[in-house]
Amino acid sequence: MFATLSDRLADTFKNLRGKGRLSEADIDATAREIRIALLEADVALPVVKEFVASVKERARGEEVSGALNPAQQVVKIVHEELVAILGGETRRLRYAKTGPTVIMLAGLQGAGKTTLAGKLALWLKEQGKTPMLVACDLQRPNAVTQLQVNGERVGVPVFAPEPGNGVGDPVAVSRASIEEAKRKLHDVVIIDTAGRLGVDAELMKQAADIRDAVQPDEVLFVVDAMIGQDAVSTAQAFLDGVGYDGVVLTKLDGDARGGAALSIASITGKPVMFASAGEKATDFDLFHPDRMASRILD
Ligand code: GDP
Repeated sequence: MFATLSDRLADTFKNLRGKGRLSEADIDATAREIRIALLEADVALPVVKEFVASVKERARGEEVSGALNPAQQVVKIVHEELVAILGGETRRLRYAKTGPTVIMLAGLQGAGKTTLAGKLALWLKEQGKTPMLVACDLQRPNAVTQLQVNGERVGVPVFAPEPGNGVGDPVAVSRASIEEAKRKLHDVVIIDTAGRLGVDAELMKQAADIRDAVQPDEVLFVVDAMIGQDAVSTAQAFLDGVGYDGVVLTKLDGDARGGAALSIASITGKPVMFASAGEKATDFDLFHPDRMASRILD
């Protein structure tokens, strides 16, 4: 992902090489090219506008420092602005001070929630935690089994509906899971919720009811980076309907343009916290805005 954006930006910077000082015309031309590169990569228009205005202003005001030539100066500015739209600092998970930390996953069906739940559980285990997975996606056939398979693969127990603990009622299951986690001394609970193919009111209400029942420490909105511009509108709909603390980008290993996913933090004001880039349980880590910016500009 982001290969085209990388290439376009590299071409833009190439045109500045060897210039002693940037004229107003150079800055305008560069800004125009950056605008086209971002738009072609699917970055949302309001984000592009702000980005380009900021780069332009800073490129004009920048003193030519001894260490960097104008081209390097512009690369540095673009890097810093990319880090800014991606949320700035790396945002780490907040753990509960007492009792189990509750992490709830929300997003559309197919976003990669169930896969992500397994990856997150493994990642937490590697941090020395003792997580438990909770199957609250009771809509999609096989979702419970899929979570059980993922849990088994990474050696993390799965709390799944059984007669008596609320079959068919995800809110009751989520509530019961917290009691189970306390009994079994799990320090993190990861709740997988149901998604629909499109945003709908019933889906939002169910997710909001689970949120109210378990009061999560972190609600993570999981979004498929391959879905293009729809990623931004879906992110906004979930923010309004359920609310969340952070975003998880999945399928970053795909070859879509990816710019829409890059716009989410900026549009919603919620940081991208994790990135998932493959089918393997280990293709997953904290999202570092500075590393992503470097990858795009490499
Ligand atoms: P859910 O409906 O949100 O629970 O989505 P799933 O976890 O079932 O994922 C939907 C599909 O996307 C499955 O076929 C996964 O194997 C695939 N998938 C999930 N995450 C990734 C990823 O990071 N990269 C790729 N290439 N595929 C993924």
